[in-house]
Amino acid sequence: MEAGAPAVLPGLSAPACRNADPALFFPAYGLQLSHTQIAAAKELCGGCPVREECLAMAVRSDESDGIWGGTTPLERRRMRLQLARMRQGAELARAVVSGEEPQVLPGLWPAVVHSLFRMGWNAERIAAALDMTSSQVQQARAMAARSQAFLALMERHYPKDWA
Ligand code: SF4
Repeated sequence: MEAGAPAVLPGLSAPACRNADPALFFPAYGLQLSHTQIAAAKELCGGCPVREECLAMAVRSDESDGIWGGTTPLERRRMRLQLARMRQGAELARAVVSGEEPQVLPGLWPAVVHSLFRMGWNAERIAAALDMTSSQVQQARAMAARSQAFLALMERHYPKDWA
């Protein structure tokens, strides 16, 4: 992305940042955006009609600079990490369903449990397959649910990534 340009994305109509000060969205070379700049940019993004598309595109293309879709680079890195975990969890869940016994570390429980529920398994079956207690399954499910809105957004905009 051209330094100093607002995040106007090809194919997206009427972004709220179209006429905004680019300095709100992108820091000057070698500097960081201030809290005030970030807050102002996020406020604009909050009312932007293409916020979802902007965020999904920025996360998918790993935009490492500036405010996109109301998120900072650090927030997008965390989102990408979430996505990577959920993808890994889906792979492990497929292995579990096919009868393998992959090692599932506790850090991946939410992602694997989430995928197994989506595949139609119930809590008891999941607990038995992953050697978890019922309460651990429910906790893992609740943790995965916090990522759901974001995951649903990515699935809506890039369904092939999740095929
Ligand atoms: S979400 Fe924010 S950065 Fe993206 S197009 Fe809208 S105003 Fe611009």
